[in-house]
Amino acid sequence: MITLSERLQAVASYVPYGSRLADIGSDHALLPVWLAQAGRVRSAVAGELNEGPYLAAAKQVREAGLESSIAVRRGDGLEVLAPGEVDCVVIAGMGGSLISQILQAGVGKLTGVDKPDGVGVSGGVGECGGVKRLILQPNVGADRVRQWLLDWSWVLIEEDILEEDGKIYEILVAEKPGALDRANEQNERLYRERRMADGYVAVKETLLKMGPFLLERASPVWRKKWQGELAKLEGIAREAAQSALAAQSGKLARLHEEMRGIKEVLECMPTDTQ
Ligand code: SAM
Repeated sequence: MITLSERLQAVASYVPYGSRLADIGSDHALLPVWLAQAGRVRSAVAGELNEGPYLAAAKQVREAGLESSIAVRRGDGLEVLAPGEVDCVVIAGMGGSLISQILQAGVGKLTGVDKPDGVGVSGGVGECGGVKRLILQPNVGADRVRQWLLDWSWVLIEEDILEEDGKIYEILVAEKPGALDRANEQNERLYRERRMADGYVAVKETLLKMGPFLLERASPVWRKKWQGELAKLEGIAREAAQSALAAQSGKLARLHEEMRGIKEVLECMPTDTQ
């Protein structure tokens, strides 16, 4: 059996048993191969845009003898999928804005029809009526992914954060409830302004930026991530302070405002020691 990095192990742990999986931007197809070897998925599609990773994925699947359960396809984002073909989609190891673009371009594939307005072909291999779960692992820009999920009435059901080889990764898991008003109601609750420990009041903007589950737990890795973000902003602000233009354009004031917001959260949230 192949071995997975800690990051991909964590991603794999959110794939429901018996899924029909798509791993978009699969690179060496490590995730679907590991899941198929572990008997955890019914079938999988490994999608790749670029030739090198596509060939590497095909080789990996061939060498593992898994060609009958993993289809390796070359194409952009979700275009490699037939409508209704999969029920769980993983997009991992890219920036949050690319992940959001891929989801946006493939909205019809997520709903199990080929057009977002619901007019289109249903079915495909093993018809199932759409994707039930998204597992997204942005390397940066998780806030963009949360915003996309919210805009398209996907509900975040879990978040995870981990550190491996000095890098910090977030994992977002979302599902789509059958009824639109239920999704909107759950999202309204998830991002409603709320009072945290020590009386700190988190507004929607902060919850989107820092993660509603992650903020609530305030784990040591999450703290480290935001301490790192703060240090980066302080560096940018020091440089901007040398520029008259930055002061005039309001850039410096915006940076200070952002830093103040992060500091306030870090000071208020109690340390989780798990
Ligand atoms: N998902 C793997 C992981 O998490 O380890 C690989 C991540 S790798 C950094 C990103 C992969 O996404 C690359 O192999 C790249 O070719 C692929 N990619 C980038 N844009 C893509 C797109 N629009 N559609 C499909 N694959 C894409």
